[in-house]
Amino acid sequence: MSRTTVATIHLSALRANLARIRALSHGANIMAVVKADGYGHGLERVARALADADAFGVAAIADGLRLRAAGLRQRIVVLSGPDEAADLAEMRRLQLDAVIHHEAQLQWLEADRDSRPLRVWLKIDTGMHRLGFAPEQVAVVHDRLRALATLHDDIVLMTHFAASDEFDSTTTATQIARFDEVTRHLPGERCLSNSAGLLGWPAARSDWVRAGGLLYGLSVVAGKSGSELGFAPAMTLSSRLIAINRLRQGEKVGYAGTWTCPDDMDVGVISIGYGDGYPRSAASGTPVLIGGEFAYVIGRVSMDLITLDLRQAPSARLGDRAVLWGRGLPAERIADAAGTISYDLTCGMTKRVLFVED
Ligand SMILES: *Cc1c(COP(=O)(O)O)cnc(C)c1O
Repeated sequence: MSRTTVATIHLSALRANLARIRALSHGANIMAVVKADGYGHGLERVARALADADAFGVAAIADGLRLRAAGLRQRIVVLSGPDEAADLAEMRRLQLDAVIHHEAQLQWLEADRDSRPLRVWLKIDTGMHRLGFAPEQVAVVHDRLRALATLHDDIVLMTHFAASDEFDSTTTATQIARFDEVTRHLPGERCLSNSAGLLGWPAARSDWVRAGGLLYGLSVVAGKSGSELGFAPAMTLSSRLIAINRLRQGEKVGYAGTWTCPDDMDVGVISIGYGDGYPRSAASGTPVLIGGEFAYVIGRVSMDLITLDLRQAPSARLGDRAVLWGRGLPAERIADAAGTISYDLTCGMTKRVLFVED
């Protein structure tokens, strides 16, 4: 095989992370969020590994279709609900739960004559200002939903946090208080927390947790990797060292020569680049793991290749496998160096990367 970039998906890590989320959730149901192709890990593969989840959360009906086609029978929640009236028939056929967040969706439901049952989640905007009904609309919307004969009457009340990864900010506390106030007199299960909410906000404990990042061993908490929070990386991205070149002090490396050798030194070349999803924005100094040693990106990331300072990796040999992130090298370190978050990295793998499971 000529391309050597491999994303190894650790199914045991997915399972262990789900078990840990469950242990932290004090009996809540777990919605495993598998949008964006399971955060880039592969939708069906992730869902099969997480068959113990109580529900799956997806961004689009097409993902629900894929999960049903793969034989999964759990509840599947389409996090943004129907996009048009015609989606309701497809959601009823596939038994996908609909998140209702907008007046237009409510009107499609009220006009719908289809008698097949449908479950709905009522999304409340407590401050994120992305999707959801404003607090003052909620009581009336809830009444209108309850009046619809084909809807299950166990409407789940949900909201989403804008900054739950900031454990010392007041934003989340305000959102929780607003949610409690708005839903005080309404029946039904509650669903508030995402991954960071689960870790940082015990007051948001409720009937359902929507967990994404932590399932994959990823963190959005500043300064903490998934591993430091006790979760195992579910993806290890690796490729191969295909050249080692001895360069002289003062020579420049890569496009535009943005890095100059401070010494006579070995420069390694790995066959991975932004064409695989390795971020072009990864700055000089971004670590790569070769054997037990760290080498560091120097110069620009190209489409197919990156160049490395091998001075601290003297054991590196041609043909060695290098880990770009995953076991031994948290994706959060790469994300920090690239000015993004780890979710963005795993979601960005391209089609030429070979996915394998272990
Ligand atoms: C993506 C998403 C989640 C999961 O968030 P994580 O930070 O990955 O746990 C939960 N709820 C909604 C509405 C989402 O869009």
